[in-house]
Amino acid sequence: MSVDLIETVAVLGAGTMGNGIAHVFARAGYKVILRDMEQRFLDRALETVGKNLDREIKKGKLAEAEKSSVLGRLQPVTEMNAIAAADFIVEAVPEKIEVKRAVLTDADRLARPEVIIASNTSSISMTTLAALTKRPDRFVGMHFMNPVPVMVLVEVIRALQTSDATFETTMKLAEKLGKKPVAVNDAPGFVSNRVLMPLINEAAYCVMEGVATAEAVDAVMKTGMNHPMGPLELADFIGLDVCVDIMHVLHEGLGDPKYRACPLLKSYVAAGWLGRKSGRGFYNYSQ
Ligand code: NAD
Repeated sequence: MSVDLIETVAVLGAGTMGNGIAHVFARAGYKVILRDMEQRFLDRALETVGKNLDREIKKGKLAEAEKSSVLGRLQPVTEMNAIAAADFIVEAVPEKIEVKRAVLTDADRLARPEVIIASNTSSISMTTLAALTKRPDRFVGMHFMNPVPVMVLVEVIRALQTSDATFETTMKLAEKLGKKPVAVNDAPGFVSNRVLMPLINEAAYCVMEGVATAEAVDAVMKTGMNHPMGPLELADFIGLDVCVDIMHVLHEGLGDPKYRACPLLKSYVAAGWLGRKSGRGFYNYSQ
């Protein structure tokens, strides 16, 4: 489907990523059908979008009067059948293959044949997900970064089956959102996590082996390499459990021992020290 024919987008899952994805589409003038399992998740998502729009107004990036029209373009639904009206679908449900399978099968059944389905998965093979649908050539990865309204990158990931037309439409669509789409082929961790996670993992090894403290490792990377956040600070933000899971995906998918998860990361996860979300990770957030 040509990008110019896309007017209505369905976003499946209204969590951390789904509300951000809905935000950027509505902000760019698209009608958005935002679907989650229960009304309370949709209410929470709309509240977050409202707060994030206020932040943009404060920064002078959005006119106050526009807020209500952006919110007016969001249609929260619990009924899956509502997505039949969509011209493009983005899936942002939890990172579990069984959940993705159920949602993608339904979306595939309900969407018109020409509609492209995109997945925001951060670690599941796009080729595997495409094969779960009856439209593997109209399946693609659209990997947004968190927080979606702020981060400019979208990795547009080509599954083995993705057609050129699907890929080009998705690249152009990401541009229409004001994002920077980058073309990537399907491989474990794509580019973002393939490069970032081993960096975080190595930083954890430095702490485990007593090379330096977490503060010192982060200081080296921030002041010496101009990274805006140190790798361990970033790991706490992402969630140490998520980091370990992605290292497992890289290790399993690429088969190279260099991707083994650092034992210190694994023991922090075992202790329930997951980073910011649990109040403790490499740093303490209890105060
Ligand atoms: P999340 O848990 O915050 O949100 C998932 C939402 O999906 C929840 O609101 C849940 O109620 C809903 N959901 C569950 N089953 C559903 C169904 N059948 N239909 C509709 N909604 C359903 O998860 P998240 O962090 O937003 O992650 C979503 C996806 O984005 C995952 O694939 C993840 O790997 C990917 N991702 C996450 C990040 C991140 O930093 N959080 C970054 C990039 C990509």
